[in-house]
Amino acid sequence: MILDPPPSAAAPGGDAPRGAAAPKIAFVSLGCPKALVDSEQIISRLRAEGYELTKSYDGAAAVIVNTCGFLDSAKAESLAAIGAAAAENGKIIVTGCMGAEPESIETRFPNIFSITGPQAFESVMQAVHAAVAPPHDPLFDLLPAQGVKLTPRHYAYLKISEGCNNRCSFCIIPKLRGDLVSRPAADILREAEKLVAAGVKELLVISQDTSAYGLDLRYAESVFHDRAVRAKFIDLARELGSLGVWVRLHYVYPYPHVDDVIELMTSGLVLPYLDIPFQHASPSVLRAMKRPGDQEKTLERIKRWRSICPDLSIRSTFIVGFPGETEADFEFLMNWLGEAKLDRVGAFKYEPVEGAAANGLGLPHIEPQTQDIRYRRFMEQAQAVSTRKLKDKVGKRLSVIVDEASPRAAEGRTKGDAPEIDGKVHIVSRRPLRAGEIVSVKIERSDAYDLYGTAV
Ligand code: SF4
Repeated sequence: MILDPPPSAAAPGGDAPRGAAAPKIAFVSLGCPKALVDSEQIISRLRAEGYELTKSYDGAAAVIVNTCGFLDSAKAESLAAIGAAAAENGKIIVTGCMGAEPESIETRFPNIFSITGPQAFESVMQAVHAAVAPPHDPLFDLLPAQGVKLTPRHYAYLKISEGCNNRCSFCIIPKLRGDLVSRPAADILREAEKLVAAGVKELLVISQDTSAYGLDLRYAESVFHDRAVRAKFIDLARELGSLGVWVRLHYVYPYPHVDDVIELMTSGLVLPYLDIPFQHASPSVLRAMKRPGDQEKTLERIKRWRSICPDLSIRSTFIVGFPGETEADFEFLMNWLGEAKLDRVGAFKYEPVEGAAANGLGLPHIEPQTQDIRYRRFMEQAQAVSTRKLKDKVGKRLSVIVDEASPRAAEGRTKGDAPEIDGKVHIVSRRPLRAGEIVSVKIERSDAYDLYGTAV
């Protein structure tokens, strides 16, 4: 995504534009929500120092490309974005996951101005300064109190940690981003409080492994509003929940201590939503993936969670066609999915990411045609579950947060749907609605992924 320039910078206390002299930087942001948060931080810094954003490469003093290196297809997209920018601008600053492997970029583009890995905000800013000096006397209060957000104003991603202690065999994120490094709880809460004060109505908690939060800090306390808060998943979730906005948890693992957070969901502090990347269900595939293997126990746990919190929505992602996956493994996965009845499901066909341990396991790779067939069967079953589950919501009144509004219609999401990855509610309304408003909607119709209803 080439980022739209935010509204013109304004001088403190007035609306005067900053002036034509501000150097212009173009920015391309690729990758996952975590990369988007990194982009937001870099852009916040650029704006704080008085740079302006532009969409045009050739009019920019430099182009920053925040890359994704997770899958080979993402790497190809990143290289294409670098190429497009380099064709028009001589100062390309590459950052993000793919920047952790500079050779793969340098062989294709030997004249890149600077290459740094993920989260290297200081190095990116140094490269920007080397490309073009910041304007004299930067007005730091140009920056809105909440920083610059690339997501719509009413929701924001909140990154609570970086890196990962797991070593899933298909994943190179620990190689790229290192082991788990959690932010102190008070730090996160201060950021969350600022976002809420700036009008954010929904916080999306992200990290590589949210349930492991604080392990590296030994759950150390930090002081937030004169009280000590432990860097622990449950404590943080409770504190975030008390800020009075929707709090949605992503990338949670089904560890036993997650049970506690279900209580926070029943009491309404945290949204009844869990995004758990199960990846597979067959014990032998999970073993090869180096992931926790007892999906029978996980099924029991899901059933227990639902008995405590019947409104719970579970979203997950899976990989089909992992090396060595037999027809029996795949059938196991399909049966498990039938039992688990997950609300929202996404799937990927396995890709042999360069550098991933899974490529060296000596397991036979699955033919692309077989991968395609399994992917299709999997998605058909997931779609059938989703269709049935959404049908059960017809006739109910649900709270919906409005994402986009026009005078008589709007689009929004229920508590069970995250932005961009889950379904929508298409709303008809007699009065104009505003983005960020939470309205009660009578659901009248459903299809495989979306709901339709009237604001009441
Ligand atoms: S949990 Fe596994 S898949 Fe997720 S970032 Fe860590 S190693 Fe990668």
